[in-house]
Amino acid sequence: MYDINLLINNTDSPASQNRTFARKNPITGEIATKAAAASKEDAIRAADAAANAFPAWSKTGPGARRAILQKAAEIMESKGEEFGRRVLAETGSTAMWGGFNAHLAANMLREAAAMTTQITGDVIPSDVPGSFAMGIRQPAGVVLGIAPWNAPVILGTRAIAMPLACGNTVILKASELCPAIHRLIGECLREAGAPEGVVNVITNAPEDAPEIVEALIAHPAIRRINFTGSTRVGRIIAELAARHLKPVLLELGGKAPFLVLDDADLDEAVNAAAFGAYMNQGQICMSTERLIVDNAVGDDFAAKLAAKAKTLTAGDPAEGKHVLGGVVTAEATHRIEELVEDAVAKGAKLIAGSGTANGALMDATLLDHVTSSMRIYREESFGPVVCIIRAQDDDEAIRIANDSEYGLSSAVFSQNITRAMDVARQIESGICHINGPTVHDEAQMPFGGVKSSGYGRFGSKAAIDAFTETRWITIQHGKRHYPF
Ligand code: NAD
Repeated sequence: MYDINLLINNTDSPASQNRTFARKNPITGEIATKAAAASKEDAIRAADAAANAFPAWSKTGPGARRAILQKAAEIMESKGEEFGRRVLAETGSTAMWGGFNAHLAANMLREAAAMTTQITGDVIPSDVPGSFAMGIRQPAGVVLGIAPWNAPVILGTRAIAMPLACGNTVILKASELCPAIHRLIGECLREAGAPEGVVNVITNAPEDAPEIVEALIAHPAIRRINFTGSTRVGRIIAELAARHLKPVLLELGGKAPFLVLDDADLDEAVNAAAFGAYMNQGQICMSTERLIVDNAVGDDFAAKLAAKAKTLTAGDPAEGKHVLGGVVTAEATHRIEELVEDAVAKGAKLIAGSGTANGALMDATLLDHVTSSMRIYREESFGPVVCIIRAQDDDEAIRIANDSEYGLSSAVFSQNITRAMDVARQIESGICHINGPTVHDEAQMPFGGVKSSGYGRFGSKAAIDAFTETRWITIQHGKRHYPF
């Protein structure tokens, strides 16, 4: 069992009154982690620590920040197996997912390290004679990052890497479902030499989240917020941030469409669809949720994908025998069962999987002939189930793709790139991959969504905009003309 304290000012700090909460292993039901349950006062203590550390950290040169971020990347990679063990214990996912998480998260730190010398400004032509005008970027202050459990190392690291590279100090508010994983990210930075107060990690009991988040957003030193999580909570965060006039970057839910046009390479499309739908049991914001398939190839595509899906079974990830591990909680699988039941009752065909779960374990599940009357057409399933919706042509496929409140990732499969590009441009999403899966992330890419999937972009260059303050500074030389 992991025993986790808060990380404030580089010290392991119990929560006030030694309060703790437990996170259970979703497969075995055993307690995986006992973590400090921060109070509002503890959260404020972390914000004060980050505020005190800001003046010195914001003045460190890019080389010094780069060295710490690079070292943290090495340390994170060296702890890959430990991250993997914690991913298994706290989220029920597989070792493959844990290892991939640590690897990509280390690359996010490396990319952030490289960006420390790329935080540039402008010299702007001025109409005032003798005025030399600049737009310069400065660190914003303390950045609050709130990350979820599903890609725990990647998203916890993403919440703080570029903010640190830009010279901000940070607080990572860990997910209640993976406190030991998020706490280990802080450990990597502490070991790499991040000075006291630069990186702070807060863990909290689920029932305390609203009070803690509100106290942090209201804290005067917090100048930026980034939130990755559900659209429901994202809306609450955005409202709080607006009340305090603080910019927020929101990475929320998705219902990624995957369009298969009538000239697609079906085998490639099937492989990409299976990967995008079932990787990490479908618990990725970019997960393929809607396969929108042209009628001309619909039956072939459905048969091939069903055959593949039937080979993707779920089992205890500790045994390492199955491609699919567990879903984050047994309640989450109940919801997925309900979505399947509703679809089947309204006429959908279940062509892979039984539609039922064994606790947190559910095999790859595929529904065909899904229509707009079914819950699964609109609701994010966030589980190992995907649906096929038939379309009569490209225009109808685009209309169905856009018939969603979400707009994060998407994909189009066609062997005619001009045609695929034309379709891609018409899809309302932040991200679209032609002939590639909807699940694809790299540290340097402008990652983010539209509509209810949020606003703002992570990814190196875009993140500089998000996590710095642009200032207009002028130098007047020679005499200036005044009207009086
Ligand atoms: P969640 O929104 O339930 O929880 C996220 C965080 O919100 C937690 O830290 C929790 O403490 C906090 N929270 C909960 N209630 C709150 C309240 N009333 N006030 C303030 N804070 C509160 O999300 P989750 O279940 O952890 O994550 C799954 C969701 O995240 C899915 O919808 C998924 O699509 C989305 N997601 C998006 C991205 C992206 O990059 N767009 C990436 C991963 C996951």
